[in-house]
Amino acid sequence: MTRPIPQPGIMDIALYQGGASHIDGVSNVLKLSSNENPNGPPQSAREAIVKAAQELHRYPSTDHIELRTAIAARFGLDANRIICGAGSDEIIAFLCQAYAGFGDEVIYTEHGFGMYKISARAAGATPVQVKERNRVVSTKAILDAVTDKTKLVFIANPANPTGTMVSQARIRDLIRDLPPHVILVLDGAYAEFADDYDGGAAFVEKNDNVVMTRTFSKLYGLGGLRVGWGYGSQAVIDVLNRIRGPFNLSGPALAGALAAIEDTHFAQKAKADNAKWRAWLAEALAELGVPSDVSKANFILARFASAEEAEACDEFMKSKGVIVRRVAGYGLPYCLRITVGDEAGCRRVAHVIGQFKEGTS
Ligand SMILES: *Cc1c(COP(=O)(O)O)cnc(C)c1O
Repeated sequence: MTRPIPQPGIMDIALYQGGASHIDGVSNVLKLSSNENPNGPPQSAREAIVKAAQELHRYPSTDHIELRTAIAARFGLDANRIICGAGSDEIIAFLCQAYAGFGDEVIYTEHGFGMYKISARAAGATPVQVKERNRVVSTKAILDAVTDKTKLVFIANPANPTGTMVSQARIRDLIRDLPPHVILVLDGAYAEFADDYDGGAAFVEKNDNVVMTRTFSKLYGLGGLRVGWGYGSQAVIDVLNRIRGPFNLSGPALAGALAAIEDTHFAQKAKADNAKWRAWLAEALAELGVPSDVSKANFILARFASAEEAEACDEFMKSKGVIVRRVAGYGLPYCLRITVGDEAGCRRVAHVIGQFKEGTS
């Protein structure tokens, strides 16, 4: 008797570890582990979702034209070359499924986001990890790893969990030197938090083998709604649409995202609040002897003297009801990733880390 056998690669996938959200026996928990907007979703999106509940018996739009048009108008893009997904995670999965299979290689970097490896394996391809330089993506290491089998390269800019960015000049040179059969994916999940940054849209306009992914989960505070999108050449988007389920986004998801993208006031305020408290938190922790790289995202990567100290601080914070993210699985055992909260959240986490440092010094 034989039992059902999954496709090659599937059993090599380690389950994605999400940010914890509760601590047994502790109330008033502060969750800073998943890079969520501390102020929640826009009121405009909540109202649109409630209204959309009246139409739940209807199937949603299959082409997402209204949302794509609004996104295009907001960022000055071509709506025909936008594809929407159930989170940008789904766009990452479409790219791997469509372009990488058995025997193909997918490049991601040392501290790169976990979904690249998972989606590459799910497609049967081989994930290839390349080194970073001091927690910054190295485009040289990426080029050195490219082979005839390489199909996709994933770079998050700003990156998660480091918060660092690769310069536009480096990305431009990488695109110039990449073989044209390789797709470069610029993951812009945190693009809105960086100043004067288009997420890579200009590179997409000039290069048929560059794709940008974006999301409503971070700046827009809609991680629970599952809406993301991709922008690429017409040829690539046409390919991805063939494997996209016709109803991959629900009616409420489309309505909520549409309201959010039109709520430019919400976006401006979320960005400004984040920048202010990100700088405050980084400085407060630095004064406590916990440095971090300059972050361009909505979290900071706090660096400790050792993995032991990082773990001890994490345990101490947990005992005080503060949940942050351990990133040992991202090759950063001596770090903790801390989402930028609201003012009260930032003050609380700095206070608790201060208590920890006092207790150990
Ligand atoms: C959060 C995140 C995403 C995915 O977010 P979705 O909720 O699936 O849109 C993609 N890339 C990076 C680097 C992220 O941190």
